[in-house]
Amino acid sequence: MLKGKVAIVTGSTSGIGLGIAEELAKAGADVVLNGFGDAGEIEKIRSGIERKHDVHVIYDGADMSKGGAVRALIDATIGKFGRLDILVNNAGIQFTAPVEEFPPAKWHAILDINLSAAFHGIAAAVPQMKKQRWGRIVNIASAHGLVASTHKAAYVAAKHGLVGLTKVVGLETAGSGVTCNAVCPGWVRTPLVEKQINDIAAEKRISQKEATNQLLAEKQPSLEFASPEQLGGTVSFLCSAAADQITGTAISVDGGWTAR
Ligand code: NAD
Repeated sequence: MLKGKVAIVTGSTSGIGLGIAEELAKAGADVVLNGFGDAGEIEKIRSGIERKHDVHVIYDGADMSKGGAVRALIDATIGKFGRLDILVNNAGIQFTAPVEEFPPAKWHAILDINLSAAFHGIAAAVPQMKKQRWGRIVNIASAHGLVASTHKAAYVAAKHGLVGLTKVVGLETAGSGVTCNAVCPGWVRTPLVEKQINDIAAEKRISQKEATNQLLAEKQPSLEFASPEQLGGTVSFLCSAAADQITGTAISVDGGWTAR
């Protein structure tokens, strides 16, 4: 389905981004991986996807907290492949604290990586996508892009902002062959959530298993995690012809979190 297309997935050395990169490669796209981690591990991931799906996979370690680096990632990809078809803005970080104790440096880091990186990436990618008369921009927001929770001031603000940015870009690209949508996952068991489970277990002096059950029971009516593969499937769908008229919207993959 995506043979000949080129996709950038930011933050794809782990978790949801890795699941999305795998699914896009499975559908035939060449993929640019991005994110931090051990160089040897990243090379294993890169060559593994390339071999398994018979596509071209490269790695670019651009730091998504720096607007210039985000724009350079887009330009380098277009320079290398001569095109850019799919941009998945997925890189993200979390930090939790009550608003009055929230460290300003953490606020800025979360806004930079979870929101501003998408702005810079989209701004640099849209002219190329419009020229091609085809493009897919998918912003990985969150249930926290639609509703709030305590102690997540920066994250909730950034993810609501990302859903807003998605609407604007959806409008500005409407009719051009380019679409822009947000995907809003509920809990997905990745390193980002593992840390929150550890924090609950330590704070309440309960086991990991009990902390996991509490985390799910509080928010996610299905009582099951969504998986990186399922998120990859949602992004793949948004890249299919069936989704040509889906733009400027947010799709929840949250086990019912935002239905109540
Ligand atoms: P993760 O920690 O497993 O992965 C985050 C990825 O982003 C990693 O590849 C990491 O190296 C990369 N990254 C972090 N800072 C970066 C930077 N400055 N530059 C480049 N790459 C950077 O987390 P995840 O759970 O897979 O999260 C992925 C996205 O999904 C995030 O935007 C997150 O907010 C969102 N999300 C996650 C959940 C969940 O339950 N896990 C729920 C809703 C939304």
